[in-house]
Amino acid sequence: MAAPETAMRRVTAINNGTVLDHIPAGKALLVLKMLGLDGEMATPVSLVMNVPSGKMGGKDIVKVEDRELTQSELDRLALIAPHASVAIIRAYNVAEKRVVNLGEEVVNVISCCFNNCASLGAREPLDHRLKVATHEPLSLRCHYCGRTQDMDTLVDNLL
Ligand SMILES: [Zn+2]
Repeated sequence: MAAPETAMRRVTAINNGTVLDHIPAGKALLVLKMLGLDGEMATPVSLVMNVPSGKMGGKDIVKVEDRELTQSELDRLALIAPHASVAIIRAYNVAEKRVVNLGEEVVNVISCCFNNCASLGAREPLDHRLKVATHEPLSLRCHYCGRTQDMDTLVDNLL
């Protein structure tokens, strides 16, 4: 029988919204933070954590009800869940599948983690630009000061 379909049905049991699958285990809360969904919770969100997953060992799933995440919101996710798969749900069905895409540069999502960076003290506001130095594992380098970012504190510097 079609096991993947059964699994998919389990995670798509919301009427309308967005399902984020294949998030690395333990990162679901970080995903909510990056999407700005950890605050006042205007949108119902459900988390499924530590689901056994053949590919990844374990994974988290996030279901966001009544909200279709935009591509730019999804691209932020690539910073912590580059292999996430995204389904837009309408009337209990998968209406669209999206992929997260980090690209070559992350612009105006996170600021450089070095306080003395020129991008932070500039008189004229500068775009926050972090270049993707390597994808696996992910490392980012500031466009201005050239320094490699501390991935553990990345989320603290979200704009
Ligand atoms: Zn910098």
